[in-house]
Amino acid sequence: MFRTHTCGELRLAHIGQEISLAGWVKTIRKFGSITFIDLRDRYGITQLYFNEAQNQVLEAQPLGREFVLQIHGKVIERSNKNANIPTGEIEIEVSQYRILNSSETPPFTIEDQTDGGDELRMKYRFLDLRRDTIRKNLELRYLISRAARNYLDSQLFMEVETPMLIKSTPEGARDFVVPSRMHEGQFYALPQSPQLFKQLLMVAGYDRYYQIVKCFRDEDLRADRQPEFTQIDCEMSFVEQEDILQMFEGMTKAIFADVKGLDFEEDFPRMTWEHAMENYGNDKPDIRFEMKLQKLNEQVKGNGFAIFDDAELVVGIVAKSCSEYTRKQLDELTDWVKRPQIGMKGLVYIKCNTDGTFKSSVDKFYNEEKLKQIAGHCEASAGDLILLLSGDEALTRKAISELRLEMGNRLNLRNPEVFKPLWVIDFPLFEYDAETNRYMACHHPFTSPKPEHIALMDDISQYAKIKANAYDLVLNGTEVGGGSIRIFNKDLQEKMFAALGFSKEEANEKFGFLLSAFEYGTPPHGGIALGFDRLCALLGGTDSIRDFIAFPKNNAGRDVMLDAPGPIDEIQKKELGL
Ligand code: ASP
Repeated sequence: MFRTHTCGELRLAHIGQEISLAGWVKTIRKFGSITFIDLRDRYGITQLYFNEAQNQVLEAQPLGREFVLQIHGKVIERSNKNANIPTGEIEIEVSQYRILNSSETPPFTIEDQTDGGDELRMKYRFLDLRRDTIRKNLELRYLISRAARNYLDSQLFMEVETPMLIKSTPEGARDFVVPSRMHEGQFYALPQSPQLFKQLLMVAGYDRYYQIVKCFRDEDLRADRQPEFTQIDCEMSFVEQEDILQMFEGMTKAIFADVKGLDFEEDFPRMTWEHAMENYGNDKPDIRFEMKLQKLNEQVKGNGFAIFDDAELVVGIVAKSCSEYTRKQLDELTDWVKRPQIGMKGLVYIKCNTDGTFKSSVDKFYNEEKLKQIAGHCEASAGDLILLLSGDEALTRKAISELRLEMGNRLNLRNPEVFKPLWVIDFPLFEYDAETNRYMACHHPFTSPKPEHIALMDDISQYAKIKANAYDLVLNGTEVGGGSIRIFNKDLQEKMFAALGFSKEEANEKFGFLLSAFEYGTPPHGGIALGFDRLCALLGGTDSIRDFIAFPKNNAGRDVMLDAPGPIDEIQKKELGL
């Protein structure tokens, strides 16, 4: 037997017992003729004590950090207790030990606060994974998946696997493709999600499906994106939107209760997409703080300030108790909105001074009385600071929503330990893509329009008004899930494909199997998918999903440990007909 206990297990109650442990050498501390070693495994750390006799053996065959040791010894009470670790009251007086394996000196310290940079840690991910912080993240990930599975199981969901080598499913991103050897010149696509399979499972009568599943999207990467990521993917038959929202609100609550011990007593608030856009400037509002957008076009118009007069949108936010912001702070914010990612030309401020006076960067055009009116309209009080942006509607809305989040950060209003979920509902069915000059599905082409809006699908000028039975679950300003009630009628699905610009032939070529399934008794159905990595990161209190994935890719989509992607050899290429 390699070990009788783990390194996180022994307590005062074990004193006097002869035990064996196995693990990695975390630290070695020599004090004259005795030595202490911290031995680490997945479960914790136990202090080993090498007395004078054992120490002599040690000196003959020196150990280093990360050596793998097996020890035998007696549990004794520690004179110098360490309250910071669960095993801190005991230590092991070693009577025998065996080096199971040696180790090179690790390229970075295996500590919570490591000296290793990102790339180095990713290159040696197997060492990085030894660090407590990463291990805890993966444990959290496991607990969340277990909680989700338990909940779904209790609700009679059944996990079904779906294929990875498929034909493209359009979720709005680029596909990863796999060349076929047996069918030269032909390609599989990796699934962007199991969307169509789960719908076909509904056709087949498996009325509650789920799968914790890898999805692949070849998108430009951002800090919180990975080319392969995991979804908790679900679908249900004989449901309306309300059923889905309740079921998955239930799942989210069960996860939080199980993993965080946190009970959401209230129902999650619901907000229409339109309300979210108007009040928060985006469809995933962070409602941990208010600071709603104030549209001010009417209030600022006609005072000779051409920038505002000509703007499609003039919009402000009120930063509470910030009227004392210094010139420097305001300049900093101005630079912030001028960054290319935000793209504004400038920032206008109005200070509502505590003495009841007003001061603005546009005093030339707006007198005290006018400023007071604007402040009144925004419900700003003495001591507040109003920040205004203006310009093109879409750009300005996006910019102010970013500025709102930035102010939220600066004012510490975005505590990662506070969780504020909500449902955003009534998304538009279509979104206009200026680049290709056509309408695209806002969610995906299988999402149903609100029944009362179906008639509008006959007139392209009405497309922007059509709302969908689509919903997102949003948590702390992050979209953690999205789904819809699906189209389950062949005619409507064909109409949808036509609206998206597919000819009948194209639709048949791409989705013939789905249209065919719709001819054989498709039940009404709908579903949702939760971004599992992101949910883990949120519950873990960080933005970085990478830290919650055992073997992630870097920001450029590379696996720096495997050095992938990489070239393949000529023979392989030839076989694949490439
Ligand atoms: N397949 C969708 C997605 O990946 C989710 C859904 O509609 O259920 O976003």
